[in-house]
Amino acid sequence: MRLLVVEDEARLGAALKRGLAAEGFAVDVVTDGRAGLEYARHGDYDAVVLDIMLPFVSGYTIVRTLREEGNWVPVLMLTAKDGEHDEADALDYGADDYLTKPFSYVVLLARLRALLRRGAPERPAVLEVGDLRLDPANREVTRGGEPVPLTPREFTVLEYLVRNPTRVVSKTELLDHVWDAAEETDPNAVEVYVGYLRRKLGREVIRTVRGVGYRLGS
Ligand code: CA
Repeated sequence: MRLLVVEDEARLGAALKRGLAAEGFAVDVVTDGRAGLEYARHGDYDAVVLDIMLPFVSGYTIVRTLREEGNWVPVLMLTAKDGEHDEADALDYGADDYLTKPFSYVVLLARLRALLRRGAPERPAVLEVGDLRLDPANREVTRGGEPVPLTPREFTVLEYLVRNPTRVVSKTELLDHVWDAAEETDPNAVEVYVGYLRRKLGREVIRTVRGVGYRLGS
């Protein structure tokens, strides 16, 4: 198994190389984002350990670029709160998992092994159904290429439907996934937001399956 570590803190990079090599991995370490992107593109790695704050090109940009290019190498991001991003943003940008610094080496190894077992199935960062395009990282929706501004709640309702494009989603399920328990327990709230979405996107985008719930139209 061949690993790429992109980490600009020299001591951490060296420690990772030593530790992972001792586990039998072949490990390349690069210390800036530009080299990281080039190595990840051309190196045929089984997994990449990617720091976020890097010289030249950030870890976010690297993982996003790789996904846009159709490269699905498993990526474990090393995050540190930088005030600008939420740690979980790593997943929106196309990473498979993240660890917050400082992390335990044992946990890193376990997470890496889990990623390697999973392999590299296709998992696009931008979701597309028909002419609808939803970008979770940038919270952007377009239909037929036209941007459609949505409120955060509308976006989350639509995102859930787009992530389940081939089946009927019940109101209760939407309530469970979009509203937190304390907030809202009335299925009518779901109807209201589906109504807002239809007004913005077109009625045919979300179909009602009577007595069951909603599904995306095609
Ligand atoms: Ca860094």
